[in-house]
Amino acid sequence: MPDVVVAGAGMAGLVAAAEARRLGATPLVLEKLPRAGGSMLLSSGVIWRHRDFETFRAECPDGDERLQRLLFERLDDDLRWLDSLGAPVVQRDTGNPLTTGTRFDSGGLTEALVEAVGAVQLAERLGEAPGSVPLILATGGFAASRDLLRAHVSAEADHAFLRAAPGSIGDGLRIGLEAGGSTSSGLDQVYARAMPAPPARIGEPDLVRLAQLYARHAEVTNERGERYETRTWSEIDVAQWQLRQPRARAWFTVAADRLGERVRERSVAELIDAAEAAGAPVRRSEEDVTVETVAGVTTTLGGLAIDEHACVIDNVYACGADAGGVATGGYASGLAAALVFGRIAARVALGERP
Ligand SMILES: Cc1cc2nc3c(=O)[nH]c(=O)nc-3n(C[C@H](O)[C@H](O)[C@H](O)COP(=O)(O)OP(=O)(O)OC[C@H]3O[C@@H](n4cnc5c(N)ncnc54)[C@H](O)[C@@H]3O)c2cc1C
Repeated sequence: MPDVVVAGAGMAGLVAAAEARRLGATPLVLEKLPRAGGSMLLSSGVIWRHRDFETFRAECPDGDERLQRLLFERLDDDLRWLDSLGAPVVQRDTGNPLTTGTRFDSGGLTEALVEAVGAVQLAERLGEAPGSVPLILATGGFAASRDLLRAHVSAEADHAFLRAAPGSIGDGLRIGLEAGGSTSSGLDQVYARAMPAPPARIGEPDLVRLAQLYARHAEVTNERGERYETRTWSEIDVAQWQLRQPRARAWFTVAADRLGERVRERSVAELIDAAEAAGAPVRRSEEDVTVETVAGVTTTLGGLAIDEHACVIDNVYACGADAGGVATGGYASGLAAALVFGRIAARVALGERP
């Protein structure tokens, strides 16, 4: 008999199970895909927080302040713990003056966590709460379910590009609600990125490389020619807007003299070249370049409501994208929330101090 059942072997589930192991417990970890890692494995691996709490609150004003405070206060210690498991670090900063954190190699991070967990039951899906054993829901939200995205987020969801790992179709949300839980704020919000529009071909290894992250250097319009002014450094506002526009499309027009602007280690021109090479519609003239993009839904920001103990309801816990209300109104690191609340969920589920 396991001490705790963990549904999902992505970031939050593996962290929770590794913490359970550290405490001497035996977790049963079920993963519906034939591989561990979930969206974490596809991610850039940057686990971060805002440098100061006031900026976090200002950028994510509708999130639960108690959860945000925990994330802010615990992340640095939790990053050191990940480091101690041997997760390979690529960079010890985020390259963004507003944030601090660590970039891990996502494949190595997955491997280190799986090793710390010991055993994961692959291709095994949790369909309902197991009853007497504590349950940790870590199924990654519902970014891979067009039905739930259409119902809760946007009528244009059928046109969106689904950028998340395919297993995250809202199982945790359903199981948590069936057990008597409730939903958090912001069920209609997602983290998304503009991606090259069809007929572009985008495989899993291209999800990070092909993101078109230069709206702030572009004129952004929808199919009707209406303009949108970018307001945030993360461009979360553009992506949320785009997802609600006709066919979830936006056209990014970049003036010739802005093509050399840098987006992390690449130029805007290089990002556009990559989109064009993948097959996206690109129009070039002497004055500017226009790229057709589609909203790429990456993570849902709303989910089950949890308290500071990651508790949904007696004996049922949620973490990662299954737990909503952390980044509501803006954007914060999903990997960081999965790390902090995954550890808390495991401790509380096993009767330890959070
Ligand atoms: C391309 C890309 C880049 C990203 N870059 C970053 C970044 O740099 N920084 C950052 O903070 N975030 C990033 N993210 C977001 C980050 O990956 C997620 O926020 C994070 O993985 C959420 O963790 P999770 O454990 O909730 O979900 P996941 O890591 O997706 O894990 C959920 C797992 O649960 C499994 N599952 C689902 N249903 C069941 C069930 N019924 N039974 C058993 N298993 C089930 C799924 O198959 C999946 O393996 C990125 C995401 C993508 C796709």
